[in-house]
Amino acid sequence: MAQINAFEMAQKQFDGVAKLLNLDPQISEVLRWPMREFSFRIPVRMDDGSLRVFQGYRVQHNDARGPNKGGIRFHPNETLDTVRALATWMTWKCAVADIPLGGGKGGIIVDPATLTTPEKERLCRGWVQTMWKNIGPRQDVPAPDVGTTPQMMGWMMDEYSKLTGEYTPGVFTGKPLGGGGSEGRTEATGYGVIYTVREAMKHLNMDPGKSVAALQGFGNVSQYAAIGFIEMLGGTVACVSCWDREDRTSYTFSHKDGVDPRYLLTITDQYGTIDKSKAKSAGYLIEDGEAWIGKEADVLIPAALEGQVNAETVKRVSSRVRLVAEGANGPATPEADEFFKANNIFNIPDFLCNAGGVTTSYFESVQNDMNFYWTKEEVLQRLDTKMTLAFHGVLQMSEREGVTMRDAAYMVAIDRVVRAMQLRGWV
Ligand code: NAD
Repeated sequence: MAQINAFEMAQKQFDGVAKLLNLDPQISEVLRWPMREFSFRIPVRMDDGSLRVFQGYRVQHNDARGPNKGGIRFHPNETLDTVRALATWMTWKCAVADIPLGGGKGGIIVDPATLTTPEKERLCRGWVQTMWKNIGPRQDVPAPDVGTTPQMMGWMMDEYSKLTGEYTPGVFTGKPLGGGGSEGRTEATGYGVIYTVREAMKHLNMDPGKSVAALQGFGNVSQYAAIGFIEMLGGTVACVSCWDREDRTSYTFSHKDGVDPRYLLTITDQYGTIDKSKAKSAGYLIEDGEAWIGKEADVLIPAALEGQVNAETVKRVSSRVRLVAEGANGPATPEADEFFKANNIFNIPDFLCNAGGVTTSYFESVQNDMNFYWTKEEVLQRLDTKMTLAFHGVLQMSEREGVTMRDAAYMVAIDRVVRAMQLRGWV
């Protein structure tokens, strides 16, 4: 089967919206490609004394609205095109959330599980030794992503600070708490999902207190989305699900009185896998992994992986469902989008719905730059304001132009980036 090229997909999506926006083809040509790309080799001394050379990347898609922002991935299948696509999507995500940042992404071709801790540290420092002149709080602010951790961001920030001769915590976000990290980052993406769900419910005249949600996944995003759905909105959570590494399959967990996510957290490991026998003893019903999508619910929150709501699974969606909130990146395929449209299901697209993570990363770098730290309540309050405004910006565009929320989110984002480029005299 032909491999999907992520960057070709990102360009196709952009071309579709550029057409809707009637964008000048010369301006499109600027936005279809990243502005800068770095491809470099990082020599690392291994523990056994040998020297290994790793391939590294950083792509800066567009910084018209502010410094580039985006994660660094350590993955054996990393390619320049994947990094380009992810950098492009970051430009749109930051713009739709209206945070003054552009889009970037980086990576190293490596399976981090094959390295010892000192080797990982040397590799992280090596990446910074190559890139330090082209990153920084005013240029490009990386963060953790697939295969990278808060600890790694700590090493990278330290290397940058040493090379520049100034303590500069704002050069990387996603650092550990106490090492320049922000309060509220753990909750940010899941709670952000719920702020957009709350606003969508107002728009749809749904009663949150009488609403039931079915969630897929029980990792960082789903855990706090489930907690928020109950504690902030007063709703009920019908189920959550997870991947079981031992059984190599997924399971759905439900309870006749509704799921208690705070209890489930006490029996869930760091990878988001729930202990089946403890859940069973606590009265949970355990079904196959796809059962979540067929639950009698008003709201579906896919918060696990991409492509989970697809031509096959979408057939199981109950006629009660009125709202889908995409906590995960890319959880719905174009066939699922068609189904939502045909069945009048309101969809909050991923790069709007899960923008709480990058928004709080932005707050982290702001706090770092000020050297003044906010309480968790302050962080979450500001996050709520940003997410609420972002949601309504997209909703207005969707209503004004008669397009889906997904197209509207792209339109808002591209429009903002184009305006910034025009104001700066780039185009
Ligand atoms: P995570 O690794 O913490 O959790 C993933 C969860 O999904 C786990 O509970 C895992 O068991 C479950 N899962 C995996 N495969 C499954 C399957 N086939 N069926 C059911 N459950 C399955 O990840 P996360 O940080 O919660 O991220 C989830 C999604 O949200 C990803 O698409 C990620 O890119 C996106 N996202 C995350 C953040 C963030 O801040 N964490 C921000 C934006 C977007």
